[in-house]
Amino acid sequence: MNNPTPFAESLLSWYANNARDLPWRIDVSAYTTWISEILLQQTRLNQGIIYYHRFIERFPDISSLAEASEEEVLKLWQGLGYCSRARNLHEGVRQIIENYHGQIPSSFQELKKIKGIGSYTAAAISSIVFHQAVPAIDGNAIRVFSRFMGINDPVDTSSGRISIEKAAYSLMDQQRPGDFNQAVMELGALVCTPKRPACFSCPLINGCIAYREDKIDLIPSKHRKTRVKERYIFYLVILSHAKNNMQVIIKKRDQNDIWKGLYDFPSLEFDGPADKTAVIESENLKIDFPYLSPAELKFTKGPSKHILSHRTLCLNFLVFESTMLPAIKNKKHRVISIDEAIHLPLPRPIEKFLEELIVGQIP
Ligand code: SF4
Repeated sequence: MNNPTPFAESLLSWYANNARDLPWRIDVSAYTTWISEILLQQTRLNQGIIYYHRFIERFPDISSLAEASEEEVLKLWQGLGYCSRARNLHEGVRQIIENYHGQIPSSFQELKKIKGIGSYTAAAISSIVFHQAVPAIDGNAIRVFSRFMGINDPVDTSSGRISIEKAAYSLMDQQRPGDFNQAVMELGALVCTPKRPACFSCPLINGCIAYREDKIDLIPSKHRKTRVKERYIFYLVILSHAKNNMQVIIKKRDQNDIWKGLYDFPSLEFDGPADKTAVIESENLKIDFPYLSPAELKFTKGPSKHILSHRTLCLNFLVFESTMLPAIKNKKHRVISIDEAIHLPLPRPIEKFLEELIVGQIP
């Protein structure tokens, strides 16, 4: 086996003194590593820790997660965004129960066959838990390797990706791959940050090409900027106070679109900003709710912006209220009490709207 590289030696001695105490580093298993890596791809560390405890407490092992309903998993995930990751994780654990006798496989290649486990997560699990020398390359690792090696190729091109992989393999500590991968992630999170990295506290400063050549702001570079598209969504919040029990019409999002598997209200989408008259007079509204009267429109809320990774949502809520809900014509619509609705898995803006409605913050 090769001797550790100077990069790995400096990095690992820094890590020995600077590694943060994180719950998944105390009780290390393939399952806890998987959960922590998926959560950390979603959110900041502090929030990730809260969700991690919540998740492990409710689903302490593969079988408890596999046996849960998708709705329960989505509810626990609520607030993190990218609910497809929660659905894939859930499918992945069921696949492990069915095809691997409930044992998470140890090899990088086998792990990649599991739904929800991509190259990065497979490398993290196989190196941290099963000591395989495979570099785990996430955004933090890309930044550290590309800056240290002075890789100018844009990191979103295949040549850039190959150069980073080569660099990672050449610098990796073959004997301690799990610690090496975690140390790279830690350095990227704490020292080699995207803006204003703390180079004077960095254990790699002596060999770092980006530092030496004054290219820290230029590396890593990207070929394409992410295009953010705007979507204009008008929610029809149709309420009734029948029998002193506030009810609302909801629907499950079952299309391959944002928030799949979560619940929201019937809605209309426009190509650009629209006013309430355009919404009320739209033919699509009349198809689902032919008897909904404009006189029942009590108030509107919005627009408010909700930002997703590649989308900016402009959300408007049109709130209709009557003593009786209109007849349901669309099979996907359901009538439900507000108190039940708040317990369903919901996108954050819908949860917030219902919370405000329940406490009377909106009329
Ligand atoms: S010296 Fe600066 S740019 Fe280079 S790896 Fe360290 S923190 Fe990153």
